[in-house]
Amino acid sequence: MKIAVSIKSVPDPEYYEKITIDPVSKRLVRDGIPAVINEADLHAIEEALRLKEACGGTITIVSMGPPAAIKQLKEALAMGCDEAYLISDRKVGGADTLATSYTLAKTLETIGNFDVVFTGSESADGATAHVPSQLGVWLKAAHATNVVHVSAEDGIVVTKQFENGRGRYRLSTPCVIGVTAKANEVRFTNVRDIMEVKNKKCVVLSAADLKDLDESRLGLPGSPSQNGEVEAIEANKECIMLEGSENEIAEKIAEILKQTAGKETL
Ligand SMILES: Cc1cc2nc3c(=O)[nH]c(=O)nc-3n(C[C@H](O)[C@H](O)[C@H](O)COP(=O)(O)OP(=O)(O)OC[C@H]3O[C@@H](n4cnc5c(N)ncnc54)[C@H](O)[C@@H]3O)c2cc1C
Repeated sequence: MKIAVSIKSVPDPEYYEKITIDPVSKRLVRDGIPAVINEADLHAIEEALRLKEACGGTITIVSMGPPAAIKQLKEALAMGCDEAYLISDRKVGGADTLATSYTLAKTLETIGNFDVVFTGSESADGATAHVPSQLGVWLKAAHATNVVHVSAEDGIVVTKQFENGRGRYRLSTPCVIGVTAKANEVRFTNVRDIMEVKNKKCVVLSAADLKDLDESRLGLPGSPSQNGEVEAIEANKECIMLEGSENEIAEKIAEILKQTAGKETL
């Protein structure tokens, strides 16, 4: 089975307080903020590894981002994935979700015919949750998001999490599956896989490498959504420790709710 996982390099949540928004470009200022693999994408990788263990095959990582994102690709390889491709080009910069998913779809089509493409359900920074479904549409593939379990039984069967329950769906291949951060427990990276990274294919592609590309769909110029005004809201959080018996704590919570009723809280 040919499996791909699309991963996004995002600012480390530990540094969220230091992230600002550029007042002119309205984009996140990431200078000096370390990057990590988006959390849901780690769970997508874990689900891909489990599928590979069950069915055999290969796992290819794809990502679109700045050259520094190669570090996150190598981390994915160290988790046991087989090869990685980063599409990095000024032409793809400033992309909205439609331009991002188009570029990722063209990258996937250029490098192989995949049976299953995993993504995270949502990124920690843009957090639109658009990309998995858009990718499914560009690839003309079945797609499901909010997935918490995947198995191969006469096709690909996914379990989707809803607000009040779960549902199972059978997807024909090729398919795109958006995995949530609740799907599984991500395994520890073992030393053998870390040592193997240097022997694995890790390639940086530019727009010129992509087949059948419509360049007018790339980056900021190819993005139908562009950032408008952004406003930073001063978070004014207070942490109150509640102590006592369950009943005493319940009474204190009721009192706090009474005091804050009608007030805007953040
Ligand atoms: C604060 C903020 C708000 C934004 N709001 C919007 C908006 O309303 N509309 C809009 O069109 N754009 C918006 N953008 C831009 C958007 O974040 C980018 O287009 C981004 O590349 C993809 O969107 P996302 O992170 O929301 O993806 P999501 O759809 O939330 O990501 C889901 C999954 O798709 C995959 N994925 C997403 N991006 C990449 C990538 N670059 N490489 C590999 N895999 C990827 C990952 O597996 C990820 O877990 C916003 C950006 C920011 C910083």
